[in-house]
Amino acid sequence: MASDSPVAIQEDDPTKATTALLSFNTDSSSSKSPRKLTTTIVFISLVLLSCIALSAAVAFAFLFFSAPKTTIHSSSFYSRPLKKLNHPVVLLISSDGFRFGYQYKTSLPNINRLIANGTEAELGLIPVFPTLTFPNHYSIVTGLYPPYHGIINNHFVDPHTGESFTMKSHEPKWWLGEPLWETPLWETVVNHGLKAATYFWPGSEVNKGSWTCPKGYCRNYNESVPFEERVEIVLEYFDLPSDEIPVFITLYFEDPDHQGHQVGPDDPEITEAVKRIDGLIGRLIEGLEKRGVFQDVSVILLGDHGMVGTCDKKLFFLDDLAPWIEIPSDWVQSYTPLLAIRPKGVDPKDVVAKMNAGLESGKVENGKHLRVYLKEDLPSRLHYAASDRIPPIIGLLEEGFKVEQKRTEKKECGGAHGYDNDFFSMRTIFIAHGPQFARGRKIPSFENVQIYNLVTTILNIKGAPNNGSLSFPSSVLLASP
Ligand SMILES: [Zn+2]
Repeated sequence: MASDSPVAIQEDDPTKATTALLSFNTDSSSSKSPRKLTTTIVFISLVLLSCIALSAAVAFAFLFFSAPKTTIHSSSFYSRPLKKLNHPVVLLISSDGFRFGYQYKTSLPNINRLIANGTEAELGLIPVFPTLTFPNHYSIVTGLYPPYHGIINNHFVDPHTGESFTMKSHEPKWWLGEPLWETPLWETVVNHGLKAATYFWPGSEVNKGSWTCPKGYCRNYNESVPFEERVEIVLEYFDLPSDEIPVFITLYFEDPDHQGHQVGPDDPEITEAVKRIDGLIGRLIEGLEKRGVFQDVSVILLGDHGMVGTCDKKLFFLDDLAPWIEIPSDWVQSYTPLLAIRPKGVDPKDVVAKMNAGLESGKVENGKHLRVYLKEDLPSRLHYAASDRIPPIIGLLEEGFKVEQKRTEKKECGGAHGYDNDFFSMRTIFIAHGPQFARGRKIPSFENVQIYNLVTTILNIKGAPNNGSLSFPSSVLLASP
């Protein structure tokens, strides 16, 4: 009765439940010795604690001794031996413009099979700058940044000869940047007395060094060849006697880049295009399995760059800079997303200063979304200065913006790439499956200039000097047993 009023108040307040319980215990123990009760509680607590500690120790011991047999199997540290082939084979597949993240748009059972049983760049593969098709495809197969392999844009003009490079230029002179030591993977492979085959890849039709684009092992680019046919032809190489199977094979699909330019990255058309690529990967896996070589072949599925939407009037017009400086169209080598200007008869430094004065004035529409640089003042991480082919003035645009010469009424809405390679939207995929790739492993993002050394390491051949790191392959590949 002595605790009537406090207990009643405490029970009404759930936040004071502990105090209520304490009051109750005090009351109920009033007839016993408090010291004896405390001793009993301490004893029971110690027994309980001992039981918990013992159980935990038993559980840890069980996990420790059982783990090697289940999750940490010793073989997962080492590359798996070849079962049928007598030499490692790398099949390098490019799905153009496969932005990182497209793989989550819909269910892609075949690509996900490669991811689940292979190694994936968890947040995507980083393209080189400019994030355009030709510079990136050639960086992938040479390990060089564009100034060093020479393909600094999809289109450009040689300042010494005035000749124009286009995506149809197969003369070796274009594909020999400074210095002259690069060899694309097909040439490196042939230099080692091995066979290579290309089913389309920028630069693969160029006769250079030991590579002669041999008949049956090299195709002249023709975008109308159905994707399914390309897969079938590549599979037929695996019907050859083991010694004649090319050890390096490229395969190229124009999608989903094609759709991305037309409708931007978020349209259902992209989902359909990505599903189709997944179907082709399924066809390829099935064909390799039928020939008993799927587990032997190193399949590397990647893209060259991402894609970003360009709608919502994100336009900038060079003519708007007229009050500061006039930029005639014959100075402009490319507009967008890579603005490249070679001024005639004026100091590029003055042009940059006047352009940036206009852009920073706050009086030019979307001016704050463009910044121009002398190429040597660009951030060094872009690696975009060391070539005469790169015009002296380069503009960096914010994501999704476009540059045009003058205002027009035309409505623009679609997708683009070519921006700073630091933008997440420019990232693409890297998914690799094969005997030297761990199953279900995620690796950090890396630049595509690392691929060259990765492929030569898998093939166990010596590569040419390049911009990739020599230690990169061992950080990704499983060790030899
Ligand atoms: Zn592309």
